Amino acid sequence: MNKYEAIIGLEVHAQLLTKSKAFCSCSTVFGASPNTNTCPVCLGHPGTLPLLNKGLVEDIVKVGIATNCKIRPISSFARKNYFYADLVKGYQITQHNDPICYNGFVNIELDENERKKIGVTRIHMEEDTGKGIHDLDIDSLMDYNRSGVPLIEIVSEPDMRNANEAYKYLTELRRILVYLGVCTGNMEEGALRCDANVSVRLKGATKFGTKTEVKNMNSFRNVEKSIEFEIARQIEVLENGGEILQETRMWDGQKQETRTMRTKETAIDYRYFTEPDLIKVSVDEAMLASLTSQLPELPLNRKDRFIKEYELPAYDAGVLVEDKSIADYYEETCKHLSSKNPKTYKLVSNWIMTEVMRIVAEKNVSITEIDLAPNLVAELVELFADDVISSRIAKDIFPEILETGISPKKLVEERNLAQVSDTASIEKIVKKLIDENPEAVEKFKSGNNRTLGFFVGNTMKLMDGKANPKIVTEIVNKYLANS
Ligand code: ADP
Ligand code: MG
Ligand code: ZN
Repeated sequence: MNKYEAIIGLEVHAQLLTKSKAFCSCSTVFGASPNTNTCPVCLGHPGTLPLLNKGLVEDIVKVGIATNCKIRPISSFARKNYFYADLVKGYQITQHNDPICYNGFVNIELDENERKKIGVTRIHMEEDTGKGIHDLDIDSLMDYNRSGVPLIEIVSEPDMRNANEAYKYLTELRRILVYLGVCTGNMEEGALRCDANVSVRLKGATKFGTKTEVKNMNSFRNVEKSIEFEIARQIEVLENGGEILQETRMWDGQKQETRTMRTKETAIDYRYFTEPDLIKVSVDEAMLASLTSQLPELPLNRKDRFIKEYELPAYDAGVLVEDKSIADYYEETCKHLSSKNPKTYKLVSNWIMTEVMRIVAEKNVSITEIDLAPNLVAELVELFADDVISSRIAKDIFPEILETGISPKKLVEERNLAQVSDTASIEKIVKKLIDENPEAVEKFKSGNNRTLGFFVGNTMKLMDGKANPKIVTEIVNKYLANS
């Protein structure tokens, strides 16, 4: 109901792609046999000592820079104490009062002309827990391979006002993480997890309403749907004179609803204290400068540049930058063009968005795996940009180029596929067709425009598809008008 306004803040956990765990040298590889990637440190044996993985610090600082955060020169680790079967040590190493990154923001695109800054309160380092396997008949089993895998938690300000903004923030954040190469961004595999904090208030009210926290959403769409559901539910409760309880709710994908998981009557006391086994983390100017220089151009900046530099429509730029490797491929192809202008840039974009991305989707691989050199795409596009071949022929020969890596120019020469723009030979055929089909000519004269297509189509056919369709149409028009 539009007398209410929703307030949303997200807590996002991202699993990092470091080869080894946060505080030991065990492998982080996904899908190994249960409990094979473990050691006394990540199993929490008494007397063992954690040793910080430098890669974890480098990755989180990169994320911090990319989300415009301040980076704390000195920060510390804390112990968060609680008991759970998947937390074999009885505590989680995390950061508490002095997160390494804080006070940042992420820009999201509300639509083509409007962007919004979503504040990032903090980003801190922590370790993942093990995983319980409860769906077996025999028993509940524990797999500690995930125990100690590095995580970062990204906490947003309560800056989002509807489910769609939350969806856009989450997808933008994912795009940044994937661009940085620090996380796969795969929600289904749990590499990216999101808890949504939702409250509603009357429009114009200054105080926030009581929030609920929704967990257990394993896809981007479910995050959006669960927030929508939760907003509607809270409004209904308030409209009926009820009160919102501060609680944790879980999303039930089957029933498409949220339901109470636990009510937070008092905050759980985690008895945080400074982790005594780890020294403070220091990020000095030199490290900051070196990591900043390693950062790739971020997706939204790149989109803006594509629009400016290649004069692409915003839609094209958006599609191309969605995946870093596709955007790289696009730029590499443009570099190989011999005539660099907005027209060919747009044709390359068309070709990549349709033909190349179709192959990528069909084969379900990344563009770097299809073994199609960008210079071949540039060559092919220029052949039809310059009217040497029709785009029909370009599409026909594309599979062969893809398969053999043969130069499009060479193939066109060898097969004699070059388009005929020589008017005399086209005129000869058009004239013959007109002489042989007086009824069609009559039909055209009585206003049936479809006969134009008949003549153009048959001329193309008689010339093996190699005639320049623009010239054919001109000539057919001329002859029909004069007959
Ligand atoms: P908690 O102590 O319950 O974990 P925090 O203050 O740490 O709460 O905030 C957790 C998340 O909830 C943050 O992303 C924050 O932006 C969001 N948040 C805080 N208050 C509200 C509210 N009233 N409505 C919606 N989201 C909120
Ligand atoms: Mg919190
Ligand atoms: Zn280990």
